Amino acid sequence: MFETAIAGSLPKPAWLAETNKLWPQWRSQGDELRQAKADATLLWIKAQEDAGLDIVGDGEQSRQHFVHGFLEQVDGIDFANKVTMGIRNNRYDAQVPQVVSELKLKGRVHAFEAQLARAHTKRKLKFTLPGPMTIVDTVADRFYGDKVKMAMAFAQLLNQEALALQADGVDIIQFDEPAFNVYMQDAADWGVQALEVAAKGLTCTTAVHICYGYGIKANTDWKNTLGDQWRQYEQVFPALAKSSIQQVSLECYHSHVPPDLMRLLEGKDVMVGVIDVASDVVETPEQVADTIGMALQYVPKHRLFPCTNCGLAPMSREVALAKLQALAAGAALARQRLGA
Ligand code: ZN
Repeated sequence: MFETAIAGSLPKPAWLAETNKLWPQWRSQGDELRQAKADATLLWIKAQEDAGLDIVGDGEQSRQHFVHGFLEQVDGIDFANKVTMGIRNNRYDAQVPQVVSELKLKGRVHAFEAQLARAHTKRKLKFTLPGPMTIVDTVADRFYGDKVKMAMAFAQLLNQEALALQADGVDIIQFDEPAFNVYMQDAADWGVQALEVAAKGLTCTTAVHICYGYGIKANTDWKNTLGDQWRQYEQVFPALAKSSIQQVSLECYHSHVPPDLMRLLEGKDVMVGVIDVASDVVETPEQVADTIGMALQYVPKHRLFPCTNCGLAPMSREVALAKLQALAAGAALARQRLGA
């Protein structure tokens, strides 16, 4: 009960990449960079285990950014000529690569870090991939001319890599779809369908993470415009509830999401965000256990998985580590309160 996991990303050590950045520059290249990525992956697996998390991941130490890490291994994308594009409905500008011809995987995308992680932990291993709709929103299209068509093309590639990750021994494959909270109608119309294409044939656990973004200023400013009740999930959850995706990760603690929206996910495992990633204040185990207790009004206990609201990539290592410990300690306290 209350198996804990993080959403996905963790801060990169200062010797691996620039710190406190969403698109950090690597500190080295070639074999040296490969070794540094491996070292950081092992370090974070150990730290997650030591903190007491039940489900661990690679902390996304081998990718510069959660979307572009995947795109770097796709043929048909011009990375040499990035363009500035407003993303997430123009919430902020990003330097994005361009799709210039038909998309095809160059080969395996995440074999190195997935196999490394699998070889070094006996705990359940979760691996994250960007969702098709979020990819489409983080790349400039100069070829397809149709969002849905391009999303379905990416979904096929994601599926290819997801099946290979499953063969590597990954237990949970999670697709990150922050764009679902921005283009709610599109998400319900075709985003969930594209996600199902990406997850087709998987027999491991499948998950989707939908959040209000990393704790960067552009996102906190945007959240301040969303009013007292954030009802974005209300439009997407019914479509997800009908889908084959088994787990849904959502933002909860310190958000203005009405918690009763979790009821719309009946039949799904719910990864409830009990850790705020937009604040350096570390939650107490009591606060975490209180959030779990509150969520239990809407989610059955065997379906509740305490999680972070989003990734921890842009935070300091010290704070991130303390938050992992708070997550595990809070879940333990919640179990104790229920007499389990
Ligand atoms: Zn997120």
